[in-house]
Amino acid sequence: MSDDKHDGMPLHFRILIALVVGTVVGVAINPGAIDLPDEKILATLEIKFDESGIEQTVEVTEPSGFESVRRKFQSAEKTKAALPWDDTGDTESGIPETLISVTERAIHIVEAAGRITIDYTRKHNGQPVSTTVKAGSPDELPVPWREFHAEHGGGWKRSLTAAAKYGGDLFLRLLKMITVPLIVTSLITGVAGLDNNRFGAMFGRTLAYYGITSMLAITTGLIIVNIVRPGIGAELPGGTEAVLVDGEQSLSGILLGLVDNMIPTNPIQSLAASSFLSIITFSIIFGVFIVRTGGETARVLRDFFQAAFEVMMRLTMAIISLAPYGVFCFMVYATASQGLAIFGTLAWYMLAVFLALAVHSCVTLPLLVKFLAKRSPLEFARAMSPALMTAFSTASSNGTLPLTMTCVEDRAHVSNKVSSFVLPLGATVNMDGTALYEAVAVLFIAQAYRGDMALAEQIVVAVTALLASVGAAGIPHAGLVMMAIVLQAVNLPLEAQGVIIAVDRVLDMCRTSVNVWSDSCGCAIIAGLDSSSTETTE
Ligand code: ASP
Repeated sequence: MSDDKHDGMPLHFRILIALVVGTVVGVAINPGAIDLPDEKILATLEIKFDESGIEQTVEVTEPSGFESVRRKFQSAEKTKAALPWDDTGDTESGIPETLISVTERAIHIVEAAGRITIDYTRKHNGQPVSTTVKAGSPDELPVPWREFHAEHGGGWKRSLTAAAKYGGDLFLRLLKMITVPLIVTSLITGVAGLDNNRFGAMFGRTLAYYGITSMLAITTGLIIVNIVRPGIGAELPGGTEAVLVDGEQSLSGILLGLVDNMIPTNPIQSLAASSFLSIITFSIIFGVFIVRTGGETARVLRDFFQAAFEVMMRLTMAIISLAPYGVFCFMVYATASQGLAIFGTLAWYMLAVFLALAVHSCVTLPLLVKFLAKRSPLEFARAMSPALMTAFSTASSNGTLPLTMTCVEDRAHVSNKVSSFVLPLGATVNMDGTALYEAVAVLFIAQAYRGDMALAEQIVVAVTALLASVGAAGIPHAGLVMMAIVLQAVNLPLEAQGVIIAVDRVLDMCRTSVNVWSDSCGCAIIAGLDSSSTETTE
C-alpha cells in the first residue's frame, strides 16, 4: 500500500502540528462556556410529576444566570411539553421526583452557517444527560431557549468554535461512513484467510490479552489512586446519603445485554444500526463458514471480500489524509469550549488519572510489546502515532478505527489476518484506559465521601470497572455513562459524578488514546505469538 507521505511531510507530523496549533488557537479564542457566575451548581430545579403532567411548581436554588428559563417555565403551562428538556423522565411509573442540577460550564451555545446549537448537559436522577437543541435561527428555538439565546448567545468566538466543531464533525462523519463496510470486509477477509485450527488459537489469545491488560490497567489505577489519594479532603456535592440501587441486577443486565448484542436477530438491521458487536459476531461466523464450506464457493467469496476490502482501504487512506484538518478542528473546539480554568479545581484527581494512564501506556504495554511481540515499542508507537493522535483529539475509538487499522497494517506491518480480528473487537470490548479511569474515578469519589476504601470493595470496583469498560461504546463520554454501574455496585451516590463531568472531555481524550494503543499493542503481540501471521503479510 502507498506510504503516507504527502507534500514531503509524514502524516504523523502534520497531525501533530494540527494538534498543537489547534490547541493554541482554541485557548486563544476560548469564549468560555456561558458567561455565568463561577458556581458549581447554577440551578437546581425540582419538578414533581403525576400522571396528568406536572403538578408542582418549580423550585429554583441559585438561579443566577438561569433566570430566564426559570421565569419562562414558571409562567408556561405546567405540562410536560412545556419543559425545556425533552426527556422529563418517569411519568409512567407514577409520581417520582426529578432533580435537575445545571452544572457549571455544562451549556454551550454555538452558532455557525445559519445554525444554532445549544448543547446542554445536566444530571437527571443522578445520571448525566445531554440535550442538544438545534435551530436555523433564534426564532425557531423553543421558547425558553430563545430567551436564553438572546441573553447568552452570539459573538464571533462562539461562531468560530462552532465552525471548528462542524468541521471536526464532518471529518468524523467521513470516518463513520467507512467504518461498517471496513469492519465487515476486513473481518471476513481476515477470518476466511485463516485455516480452521489457527482461528481457535487466535480467538483464545485475543480474549486473554483483552482481559489481562484491562486488569493490569485497573490494578495500576487502584495502586496510584491509593497512593495519591486525590479524594481525601475533596468536597463533592450530593450529600453523603448513598443511592441504593440493585447493583447486582444492573451488572447481570449488562452481561445479558452483551450476549444479546452478540447474537443479532437480523444482521442487516445490525448493519444499518452500526451495532458493532452484532456485526463483528456475524462477520466472524460468516468467515468461519466460508472456510468450512471450502472449494470453489470459498474461493469466490474470498476473492470478492478481498477485492472489496482493498477498495475500502484505498478509500480509508484518502479520508485519512484529511486527518490533520479534522484534528485541528477538534482541538480548537475542545480547548475553546472547555478552557483551561477547569484544570485547577480537580487537579489531584486528574493527576492520578494521568499518572496511572501514563504508567500503563508507557511502561506496562511497551514491556509486553518488547517481550511478547519482540519488537521495539518506540518504533511501534511511532508507526501508530497518527491513530493515537486522532484518538486523542476525537475521543472516540470507534471513530478512529479505520485509522488504527491502516496504521497497524501499513505502517506497523502487522498482517490483516490479525488486525482485522483484534482491532474491531478491541475497539468495542478492550478499553484499558476506560477501565482504569472507572477505577480511579470511583475511588476518588469514595475517598471524598467516606475516606479510604476497604480492599474487598476495591475488588468489587475492579471487577465492575472491567465489565463497565467492556460494555462502554467507543464514543466520547461513554465511560462516564457506564460509571453509574460501578458506583451502584459499591453504593456510592451518582450525584458525585456531577463535578467530574467538567473535566471528562480531557480525560476522555487521554483514555481513548490508551484504549487505541492497547488494541494496537494487542495486534503486535498476537502477531508475534502467532509469528507465521507476520510473515504472510503481502
Ligand atoms: N471515549 C472512549 C472511547 O471511545 C470511551 C470512554 O468514554 O471511555 O474509547
